Amino acid sequence: MDFGVMLETVLTTVERWQAQDVYPLLPVLSTTSPTRARLADGREVTVFGTCDYLGLSQHPDVVNGALEATQRYGTNTYGTQIHSGHTEVHRDLETSLAAYLDRPAALLFPTGLTTNMGVIGTLMGPRDAIFTDRFNHGSIALGARLSGARVVTFAHNDTEDLATKLAACSDAERRLIVVDGLFSTSGDYAPLCEIADLAERHQALLMVDEAHSMGTVGTGGRGAAELAGVLERVDIIMCTMSKAFGSVGGFVAGSVRLVRALRHSATAYLLSFGVPPGTAGASLAALTILSGRQGTARRERLAHNAAMLREALCAAGVDIGVTTSHIVPVIIGPTDRTARVASWLLDHGLLTAPMLPPAVPFGSGLLRLGATAEHEDNDIATAARLIPAALRAVPE
Ligand code: PMP
Repeated sequence: MDFGVMLETVLTTVERWQAQDVYPLLPVLSTTSPTRARLADGREVTVFGTCDYLGLSQHPDVVNGALEATQRYGTNTYGTQIHSGHTEVHRDLETSLAAYLDRPAALLFPTGLTTNMGVIGTLMGPRDAIFTDRFNHGSIALGARLSGARVVTFAHNDTEDLATKLAACSDAERRLIVVDGLFSTSGDYAPLCEIADLAERHQALLMVDEAHSMGTVGTGGRGAAELAGVLERVDIIMCTMSKAFGSVGGFVAGSVRLVRALRHSATAYLLSFGVPPGTAGASLAALTILSGRQGTARRERLAHNAAMLREALCAAGVDIGVTTSHIVPVIIGPTDRTARVASWLLDHGLLTAPMLPPAVPFGSGLLRLGATAEHEDNDIATAARLIPAALRAVPE
């Protein structure tokens, strides 16, 4: 779609929703927890639109981690990480993440989005080819575009299509396959065993974005690659701290040379301040929890809640697509109806995450629900009651 036309479409749609009072975006919250929020007008809502899957954003140890680091180092660093923004807590977080994932090194970026842009955009160049799943997160597409490499999109989770496209690009100097370990809106996993085989056969590097899977799946919480038994075959592990860690920041883990190269040449790292010390302190505390016994217990509870949510919605006849995880999409179809359903739900006490264009193709829409370890059975019952009611109340 032409850029000007796209902006015009977005503006007209949003302005129409605002005029008709069906604008489900940007709700102002006065208090929050992983499962409950109070809106600025005083109403309490049940939250299913979060990525705080383990409920760590309000865990006392994580909050203390943030407070202690802030008290010790202040709210900001002196400069970018490479100059004077790398405190002991940043160093400890990088070392602990690398040790957790059994990798020689890790590098912190300000966010997950800048990690994908920094890593892919720096490592790959015009003579290379990047193979990317059609459903990958938008930040991967941004990194790929930045690199100047040939970008080859393969059909979602289609390893035959990937194999054909790898074979057709044997002239590329280097090849990188990059996939989300767990897809952020459809809630299905990448077939990482087959993809790792293809990477080996075609001498391609394999990068996995574990944004939604790290902390939440795998026996040690190490993500989709651990779950699939291929962790050691992944060359570049990427993740964000904005989901299961209950914090903010992104990181990449891999070889010492990879991290050294990125630390000294990735502009997304070099030209932007890193996360504040308090945020790094929160992430470090979250890592201690999710890699320990409490992490295992929370993952079990999350898997139980996710299965209950999926089953309850299916039993109520709601289309949740192909998800097998804690990310549960409610597939609605037209963008306008999606906004109206989300708005109806907010009015009736359920906060979801409506995925609207440009996050999804123009004209389409879905509600993204995130189960968490903190949801109670009655929260799931509330969602399973309200969502079918909303779909009945809002005409096609
Ligand atoms: N990768 C994936 C798969 C994501 O879903 C997201 C966040 N929505 C990101 C990367 C970016 O992470 P961040 O929020 O830390 O920028």
